[in-house]
Amino acid sequence: MDLLLNQASAIVSGGTKGIGLAIVNNFLKEGMNVTTFSRNKKNIDSTKRKFNSFSSQINILEANILDEDNCKKIIASHIKKFKTLDILVNNAGESIKNGTTKDKWGQSFDINVTAHVILSELVIPHLEKSKIGGNIVNISSIFGRESGGNPQYNASKAAMISFSKSYANLLIKKGIRVNTIAPGSIRFTGGTWDKRVKNEPKEMRNFIQQNLPAGRFGTANEIADVVTFVCSPKASWIVGSAINVDGGQSRSNI
Ligand code: NAP
Repeated sequence: MDLLLNQASAIVSGGTKGIGLAIVNNFLKEGMNVTTFSRNKKNIDSTKRKFNSFSSQINILEANILDEDNCKKIIASHIKKFKTLDILVNNAGESIKNGTTKDKWGQSFDINVTAHVILSELVIPHLEKSKIGGNIVNISSIFGRESGGNPQYNASKAAMISFSKSYANLLIKKGIRVNTIAPGSIRFTGGTWDKRVKNEPKEMRNFIQQNLPAGRFGTANEIADVVTFVCSPKASWIVGSAINVDGGQSRSNI
C-alpha cells in the first residue's frame, strides 16, 4: 500500500533512541523530511551517523523539550529547512522513579504531558496548512489505560490519552487528526527492558510468562509501523483513538 507520505514533513520528539528512532527510520524510508531532537550529545551523534545517507531529509537538534523556547526554536529550524510541517509525533517520555513526591509527580507530568501539549499548540498553525491533512500522534502506554508502572507514570500516561481524545475533537474541525498509540513492553538494545533482561534474567523470564501472551517483548519497529500508518492519509478516519500495540499484553476487556 502506498501510504502517500512521500515528501511529507514531520517533527518527532526523542527520535535518537528506541521507539522514536524507529519512527524516524520509517519516516525517512517513506521519503519524508524529518526533524528530531533530544538532550544527550552521544545519542544525537550516533543518530547523525546512522542516518548519514539521508542527510538532505533529516534535521537533528540538541534540545530539551521541557524548555518552551527550545520548542519554538525546533519548529523554526524545521520550517527554515523543510518549509512545511504535516506531522508531529510526541514520543519523548520518561518513567520518573524513586518515590511519589510532589517533585516526582510534577516531573512526570512535565515530560509525559505538558511538554507535548505546548509543542502541539505551537505546531497547529503549520499543521492547518498541510496538504495531506495535519496529524498529531501521541505515544502513551498501555499503562495509561490500566494499572502498571509507577503511580505518576500511570497517571501521566492516562492524562495523555484523555487529553488526546478531547484535543482530537477540537482539532478535527481544522482538518488535523490526533491519535494515541499505547505500546506494551518494548525491548530494544540499551532500553529499560533490555537492561532488566540482562540484569534480572530469572525475574524477566517470569514476567514474560505471566504478562506477555505472545511469549516475547514487542519491538520498536512494531510500534513505528503502526505510527507510520496512523500518520498517513490512508488512516483518515482514525480520529481520537487510543490504539494498543502490545501483542495482547493489556488486560482490559473494554
Ligand atoms: P527511551 O529509550 O528512553 O527514549 C526516549 C527518547 O526521548 C530518547 O531519544 C531521549 O533522548 C529523548 N528524551 C527524553 N527526555 C527528553 C527531553 N526532556 N527532551 C528531549 N528529548 C528527550 O524511551 P522509549 O522506550 O523509546 O519510549 C518512547 C516513548 O514510548 C516514551 O513516551 C515511553 O513512555 C513510551 N513507552 C515505551 C515503552 C517501552 O516498553 N519502551 C512502553 C510503553 C510506552 P535523550 O536522553 O538524549 O534526551
